[in-house]
Amino acid sequence: AFQAQRRPSLSMGATGGKIPLGLKRKGMRVVVTGGAGFVGSHLVDRLMARGDTVIVVDNFFTGRKENVMHHFGNPNFELIRHDVVEPILLEVDQIYHLACPASPVHYKFNPVKTIKTNVVGTLNMLGLAKRVGARFLLTSTSEVYGDPLQHPQVETYWGNVNPIGVRSCYDEGKRTAETLTMDYHRGANVEVRIARIFNTYGPRMCIDDGRVVSNFVAQALRKEPLTVYGDGKQTRSFQFVSDLVEGLMKLMEGEHVGPFNLGNPGEFTMLELAKVVQETIDPNANIEFRPNTEDDPHKRKPDITKAKELLGWEPKVSLRQGLPLMVKDFRQRVFGDQKEGSS
Ligand code: NAD
Ligand code: UDP
Ligand code: UDP
Repeated sequence: AFQAQRRPSLSMGATGGKIPLGLKRKGMRVVVTGGAGFVGSHLVDRLMARGDTVIVVDNFFTGRKENVMHHFGNPNFELIRHDVVEPILLEVDQIYHLACPASPVHYKFNPVKTIKTNVVGTLNMLGLAKRVGARFLLTSTSEVYGDPLQHPQVETYWGNVNPIGVRSCYDEGKRTAETLTMDYHRGANVEVRIARIFNTYGPRMCIDDGRVVSNFVAQALRKEPLTVYGDGKQTRSFQFVSDLVEGLMKLMEGEHVGPFNLGNPGEFTMLELAKVVQETIDPNANIEFRPNTEDDPHKRKPDITKAKELLGWEPKVSLRQGLPLMVKDFRQRVFGDQKEGSS
């Protein structure tokens, strides 16, 4: 019953009101929910580097303090342990809403919590955006396309999703989050952006999160067999995290609502991915077949024409270029304090 008031940027926070000479761009006050996670922490690094004041809101379900610890002590950085399912009051200019487990293993662990996070959590962040007139960006997912009947997937495709399956807490949850986002946009004038993110990998992924790239890399480093689910002919398209972060920031700063597919169109079967991992880490790594999980999408590849045209964005890092960057980080974490010398 209360109309959102658009107000000019509150952006003096970063410098206490005094903009140092030479600093062209005013720092923004930005919330990153899920900012202690894999993607969020890389986004936080870029926002901090650009001079923004960043507030991370995270309940540490899958995120880690280690991912953002290097900003502790910086007055422009704040970390709040908070669950987005509960309301929160903050004064900010932009909200990047990432809070939600992304690995199927994590999001199936407590499906009711996952759907609450996607629905109630997103509602709260939209309520916050409405109250303070902040711009809101939702990190949705390629999973809204389900097991797609169109290939590659274009944003206009409505998807093929099982509403009662084991993945529904995540994909139906994200679909509802998109609906809420558009309804706050249309009904309450909230400035919104929607990104549909395709499989992303890179440093700081949880080592044992069950996603295919992190599994294969950790397995190859530990000299364990690479576990290929099903016949390994299902496909995914893998994007390096720096490309995604660039896309998210372009989307937030641009003038288009979306949804936009953000992903790398390079498509691989899981067997091909295993081969790239062998080439990168250990040519002698074995492959072991395991039964596949329920409702596993058979193929996935983004059509990124829209992002190219309207955001001027496209990924730059191929799988063969990006994988070694991730391996370096995994090597250090898998082998702990052992000197990482070789790499
Ligand atoms: P992640 O699991 O590493 O990070 C998610 C973060 O959200 C973690 O820090 C976690 O602790 C936090 N979180 C979870 N539930 C929360 C809650 N209720 N309250 C507060 N914090 C909570 O995952 P990620 O790969 O960094 O994914 C980030 C976002 O991008 C997610 O919304 C995910 O759905 C989306 N996405 C990621 C991918 C990918 O391949 N990485 C693909 C599609 C979409
Ligand atoms: N909300 C929040 N922080 C705010 C403003 C709102 O967490 O700064 C929550 C609020 O508790 C509510 C949700 O966002 O549960 C939706 O808010 P809105 O004002 O749109 O709806 P209403 O409170 O009128 O149901
Ligand atoms: N997968 C696999 N081995 C693993 C983990 C996953 O073959 O150790 C397969 C999985 O069956 C799916 C694909 O890899 O077909 C991608 O799975 P992931 O969990 O990484 O992400 P999804 O795209 O399913 O969300």
